[in-house]
Amino acid sequence: EEVQIVRRQLDNIKVKGKKAPRPVKTWAQTGLHLKTIDTLKRCGFNTPTPIQAQAVVTILSGLNLIGIAKTGSGKTLAYGLPLIRHVADQDVLQPGDGPIAIIMTPTRELCYQVTNEIRKFARLFGLKVVCIHGGSPISEHIAELKKGAEIIVCTPGRMIDMLAANNGRVTNLRRVTFIAIDEADRMFDMGFEPQVMRIFDNSRPDRQAVLFSATFPRQMEALARRILGQPIEIQVGGKNI
Ligand code: ADP
Ligand code: ADP
Ligand code: MG
Repeated sequence: EEVQIVRRQLDNIKVKGKKAPRPVKTWAQTGLHLKTIDTLKRCGFNTPTPIQAQAVVTILSGLNLIGIAKTGSGKTLAYGLPLIRHVADQDVLQPGDGPIAIIMTPTRELCYQVTNEIRKFARLFGLKVVCIHGGSPISEHIAELKKGAEIIVCTPGRMIDMLAANNGRVTNLRRVTFIAIDEADRMFDMGFEPQVMRIFDNSRPDRQAVLFSATFPRQMEALARRILGQPIEIQVGGKNI
């Protein structure tokens, strides 16, 4: 309860789920690599935003998570930085050459935004980020994926097409141990739920998964549980519904 009170006094952070670590005040307390923290500071991101303060350490501790915070609150790096650390820390790679983490977003525009934001941090570890979305030639995406990428940012429909392409020889989910869904509310509004489910159903049972959204309508609850099991829920600010 003491921790809950501190969270509320500081930033109106509400957390459901017992195992969540305390929120941090500084990047140094997150356990992110020093070169990541140096880059954050060079970008002028001197301290974590409230959603980052609570989500980064929760994700780094290996827990599945629902993160709700309004637009502009820094959700991309709240999952992006721990995702990059997860991928960078794979010392014994599973056999195969597919991605290790995938990020799903509902639109092409968001794919670009997320890719741009996380590339400057992925680069620090030599990790390649590829952007796969509806509305551009499939052949381009096939060529890019054949070169290999540790992280894929995608819209779900096109990702399914890529998994099916050339009888599965273009890419696969065998090494995927981290999946993030961004703008989940828009994803479900746009009717991408079956495609999202299909990707989850074909992923490893030991993968970690996180879902971020500006709002969390009731209709999303059952689905979130199916994908995430018993996630920690973090909400910054009001209900946003
Ligand atoms: P959301 O996904 O919640 O709408 P974004 O992740 O797009 O928010 O971040 C909004 C803006 O805030 C972006 O321009 C991003 O680069 C910037 N930003 C992210 N984290 C921080 C931080 N810790 N301090 C300052 N600015 C930040
Ligand atoms: P698809 O239905 O093509 O498999 P995805 O589910 O992978 O598509 O991605 C849908 C997203 O792709 C849309 O939200 C939109 O941003 C983008 N998109 C799809 N088709 C087009 C198009 N013809 N022009 C521009 N963008 C498109
Ligand atoms: Mg966002």
